[in-house]
Amino acid sequence: MRMGRNTHQKQSILNALTSLRGQHPTAEMVYERVSQTIPSLSRATVYRVLNGFAEHGDILQLHIPESGDRYDDVISPHYHLLCNVCKRVVDLAAPRLEEIPLPQNDISGCYITGIELMFLGICSECASKQ
Ligand SMILES: [Zn+2]
Ligand SMILES: [Zn+2]
Repeated sequence: MRMGRNTHQKQSILNALTSLRGQHPTAEMVYERVSQTIPSLSRATVYRVLNGFAEHGDILQLHIPESGDRYDDVISPHYHLLCNVCKRVVDLAAPRLEEIPLPQNDISGCYITGIELMFLGICSECASKQ
């Protein structure tokens, strides 16, 4: 089967994300990595493809206020910690928590569709320097 240009680009972007596994890179970091192999690829394409993968559930997109979204090619359920010091996102080897009960939808007139959980703290690398 002949791979189209788009398929090839998508695969290269996914490969770049996989090569950064555990680092939870920003789209910019993925762009920098993939442009080492495909210098002609535009920043906009990388952002668009990453968001497309996330929408389809092929990768995780972690929303982090004021420091941009991060991406993770590991989609099995796991927790994340945002380091207060270096602002990196690291995987947290924590046991599964009890499910957090969602508030009743009708209390405030809001409609709740899900929950996003991010632990805050200090990563092991920063902790060892203190
Ligand atoms: Zn840190
Ligand atoms: Zn992760």
